This record gives sequence, C-alpha cells and structure tokens, in this order.
Amino acid sequence: VKALIQEAGSPNVAGVGIGCPGLIDPWKGTVRTSPNLLSLPGFRLRDQLSENMGLPAEIQNDANAAVLGEWLFSPASKGVKNMCLLTLGTGVGGGVVCDGHLLVGSDNAAAELGHLKAEYSHGALCGCGRRGCVEAYVGSAGILRTAREMIAANPKTSLKDEKDLTTKDISQAAAGGDQVARDILRKTGEYLGRGISLLIETFNPEKVVLGGGASAAIDYLRPGIEAAVKEFASFDFTRDRCKIERSAFPDDINVIGAAATYLNAHPELR
Ligand SMILES: [Zn+2]
Repeated sequence: VKALIQEAGSPNVAGVGIGCPGLIDPWKGTVRTSPNLLSLPGFRLRDQLSENMGLPAEIQNDANAAVLGEWLFSPASKGVKNMCLLTLGTGVGGGVVCDGHLLVGSDNAAAELGHLKAEYSHGALCGCGRRGCVEAYVGSAGILRTAREMIAANPKTSLKDEKDLTTKDISQAAAGGDQVARDILRKTGEYLGRGISLLIETFNPEKVVLGGGASAAIDYLRPGIEAAVKEFASFDFTRDRCKIERSAFPDDINVIGAAATYLNAHPELR
C-alpha cells in the first residue's frame, strides 16, 4: 500500500480499507475466524495495518466490502437503496445493502448468502459441514461436481473430465456453443436462482449483482436463474422488479470494496 501511495505521487490519503475473508469484527478490528487464512484468527489486522501505515484503517468481511464497492462506486447502482451481491469463487460470499445501509447483523455475520439452503433433500455437502447450501452447487467445487456428472452422462462434449478442469473452461466451452457446458451452467444457475428467490422474498432488492470468476458466465447462468426465480419467488411484482446483473468491476471488486469499506465508515468523505 505504501508503494502504491508513492507511485500515485503521494496524494492525500484519508485512510485504508481492508476486505478480509472470514468472520470479521469491524468494531474491534479483528479477524474472528478465517477458514482459508488459518494464521489470522484473533489477529488485530486493522490496528496493526493502521500503526504500520500511520493512517486510520477500517476492516470488513470481503463480500460485505464487495457490495459496498458496487453500491458506492458503480454508476449503475447510484441511488439504489436495496441490493444484494453474491461473489462466485471457490466459495460463495454475500453482502446486502438494506434500506441504504450495509446489513451486518448482531455479529457482522449476516448475509452469509452462500449458505442459504438451495436443496433440503439429499443436498450436496458444503464446506461449512452442512448439506444443500447454495455454495455446494455454485462454488467452484460444486460447479465441477455437476460438470463431472454431466460429462459422464453426455460424452458428446468438448469438455474433458480432467483434474485441471476449471469453471473458466466450462464457461468458454459454453460460449463456443457446447451444449453440455451450457447445461452445466443452466443447472448451476437453477441453484443460484433458488438462493436469489430467498433474497427477493427477504430483502425486496432492486438488484442482485453477481461478482467473482464464474460471473463471467452470467449469460449461461441466467436461463437457470430465471427459471428458478420464476418457480420459487412468490410475488410477481418483487420478482420482476429485481434486476440480476454482473458486477461493474468483475476483476477489481475486492480492492474497490476495500476502499468503499473505509468510505462507508466515514460518510463525511463520500
Ligand atoms: Zn454451507
């Protein structure tokens, strides 16, 4: 960060924002637990960084930071008061802006949208230890599991069930016209749509934004999403007014979210 500030000609920097995976305590500035960063639990990340930088700092969960980034910086979200964001990566993160505020809950652990249940009967195992979560179908391991099942059942595909198969390969094959790849993403979209239906009922959002690597396949996820939302969201009005779109910053949402985290905590700077 210091190097970047120097590179930018040492401008006036108000503070530093941090978007960190895991359960974050933004009030104490600590990392409670972080499944992929085992060395961090309890770490005073905000204050350590602040002391090191000589600048004030603010911390949020990375997906909460991402929805703030989309909300505060995307021209398409200007004036929006209710929106949800799902980050589609290894896991599925979520953030909700509700009535013009970031929804944090009692422990800053609200909006764990990847763990909304999309399947109650014989659901796939999720990284959280429960079954049937959206993440178990829409996280990268879930997409690959669906892919392997479908490739085995439909050998007429350009996709190969190889160790290094990625969601990007599937998305590229879909764009190239591969029907099995399109079916994999449609199925993935259906599970995502089940989760989105719950968001529509709960938050009445103006939009649901998709970020993360797999959001590049939004055109092929969309038929499944729309079918599921049509099937499961109960009210036409709240369903039809909810736009589903890709993040305005598909590659940079994490850094933009970090900046937005600082600005959200200091509204006088916005
Ligand atoms: Zn889960």
